[in-house]
Amino acid sequence: MLANGLLLATLGAMPNPLLQEWTGPHGGAPPFDQVKVEQFAPALEAAMAEQLAQIDAIAADPAPPTFENTFAALERSGRTLDRVQRVFSVFSTTLSTPAFEEVERDMAPKLAAFEDKITQNEKLFARIAAVYEAREEAGLGPEQQRLAWRYHMDFVRAGAKLDAPAKRRVAEINERLATLFTAFKQEVVAEESQQVLWLEGEADLAGLPPGLRSAAATAAEARGKKGQWAVLNTRSAVDPFLTWSTRRDLREKAWKMFKSRGDRGDEHDTKGIIAEILKLRAERAGLLGYPTHAHWRVEDSMAKTPERATALMEAVWPAAVARVREEVRDMQAVADREAGAGGEKITIAPWDYLHYAEKVRKAKYDLDENEVKPYLQLEKLREAMFWVAGRLFDLHFAPVKGIPVYHPDVRVWEVKDGKGKHVGLWYFDPYAREGKRSGAWMNAYRRQERMDGEIATIVSNNCNFVKGEPGEPVLVSWTDAETLFHEFGHAVHGLASRVTYPTLSGTAVPRDYVEFPSQILERWLPTPEVLNRFALHVKTGKPIPKALVRKIEKAETFNQGYATVEYLSAALVDMTIHLAGATPVDPAAFEKETLASLGMPDEIAMRHRLPHFNHLFTGDSYSAGYYSYLWADTISADAYEAFTEGKGPYDAAVAKRLVKHVFSAGNTVDPADAYRAFRGRDPGIGALMRRRGFPEQAPAAGDGAAGAPARSGR
Ligand SMILES: [Zn+2]
Repeated sequence: MLANGLLLATLGAMPNPLLQEWTGPHGGAPPFDQVKVEQFAPALEAAMAEQLAQIDAIAADPAPPTFENTFAALERSGRTLDRVQRVFSVFSTTLSTPAFEEVERDMAPKLAAFEDKITQNEKLFARIAAVYEAREEAGLGPEQQRLAWRYHMDFVRAGAKLDAPAKRRVAEINERLATLFTAFKQEVVAEESQQVLWLEGEADLAGLPPGLRSAAATAAEARGKKGQWAVLNTRSAVDPFLTWSTRRDLREKAWKMFKSRGDRGDEHDTKGIIAEILKLRAERAGLLGYPTHAHWRVEDSMAKTPERATALMEAVWPAAVARVREEVRDMQAVADREAGAGGEKITIAPWDYLHYAEKVRKAKYDLDENEVKPYLQLEKLREAMFWVAGRLFDLHFAPVKGIPVYHPDVRVWEVKDGKGKHVGLWYFDPYAREGKRSGAWMNAYRRQERMDGEIATIVSNNCNFVKGEPGEPVLVSWTDAETLFHEFGHAVHGLASRVTYPTLSGTAVPRDYVEFPSQILERWLPTPEVLNRFALHVKTGKPIPKALVRKIEKAETFNQGYATVEYLSAALVDMTIHLAGATPVDPAAFEKETLASLGMPDEIAMRHRLPHFNHLFTGDSYSAGYYSYLWADTISADAYEAFTEGKGPYDAAVAKRLVKHVFSAGNTVDPADAYRAFRGRDPGIGALMRRRGFPEQAPAAGDGAAGAPARSGR
């Protein structure tokens, strides 16, 4: 029975490479050089069948249930499917084509139904419950108990205890949701690729720096309009245009194009999809025994309840809004001065914010982005990250040849610990290209584990930098450099993992905790140790001047009102709409009313409006979970102060504790306990407020740390 997948794999004329064990040194690597899109559907089908057979064998085991024949057996099951799905997700995020999208649409509901077949297997759940309930008497170790808890929790949350009709309905809902999520994702992609702002001459280009002009020219040429300029409908194209264009009418057009994705009342409008998703989520939450979808989602997080997540957001919101009022006042003063000097009289509108903020930045801090960029070379920054990983985590990187990659731009490094032991591979895919999703992210191709001998992890970092001419160094902005360090933090979280069971490995921690390791790593970019070695001028090779670094540091809290309100308004709307229960919701009206009741400043829009809010509607995992970034940022700000209270950013003793309790621990301990073990106490909100330059609030009566976000709810 176990040979099922293998059998199907070899029955065809050619073996399907997706179904084979990975080959090569260090336990093998994904066979990217052999994979073809048409192999995914048969491979997924075969691998699902193989795992279902394995699950049936576990459920039908005549021996009494034990940790070994239940949880360890579950951990060993589905290995083929895991390998196929990890390659599938690389294609989905970095190599998508219309043919692949079709496979994705077809497979999404099938994969959802497959998962329900496992979580609704009654004989299997009876064994899981039996071992889980006897976990303390059975003499299981702490990690084994945690694994038993994790499985039991996942099954119960998926509806394992429901009666047959309720189970059937949950499965139906999940299948329909999978289809809706894929549809939402593809509509937003269509909006982003089909809408363009065309610029037709010098007058339309007013204010744009040379780099932006040439990017817009290249984008137009790629769309068959050589000699024109295109502002694409993505954040990385629109935000710089809003910052630099001096044509207010065009800024308004670009802003409206970007903010109305999915909300134009045409065939790509997503509001109908959203309404159906919300309705199904509310119904499912009811079946599972929760008051709302938000309660169901947040339960499996560090915050544990929507109320605690909301309390943190509400603690930060007033200070952020107050800061926005100050920022708008400063910008309005600049605009009024310009009007006085013969310019147009304006009131700051949302499409003016980034443009006037840049003017205030120059006036207040004398800091010009274009002055910093020549010191930030992509490859030097990569070396900087390696250096930091060596100092803090004892991880050492060396380039490795001969590992298959899915695109010639992808490079691979081998990672060893201080004793020279292999601990993983790191793939780097830095450049934008068609079929690759926007933004930056980390991905794991294989999880670290040691249940049947040591298996090292394979991780990747992905970004969307514009590739330079051959041999020309790629220069990035300060924000991009921070993003590089952020994603590298996720990769290190995977590489530093030292756990036994794969389900608990590396980044498999709650959503509102997983951003902590990544956010804290950003803090090592501005350290003098890094800048003096790696922030070297592209022409002269000289390190970035101290005066310029001081300006960057001084400007760190600049525009935090904008950044915080833009983000928090989206997070609050997310939580509110998923707390709305079964009441039918018109997404556009709901968004408007919620923002009005929050006192949203007119000069800012939500970072993601509902009609294109991918986090919420392309899957369940970030729904009622967009608050997670703030939660994790509260923890990372508090954690970094452990270094500054000690001997500084490279305090070896603090770093050692951070590795022991956070980076290497995966999900083997409750995150709140892990943090307490690292810090000696729970995190408070003070460090976050200081980091953003907001005034700190007095603790509320009866609560030592007002809004202390990261207390365990138990
Ligand atoms: Zn992240």
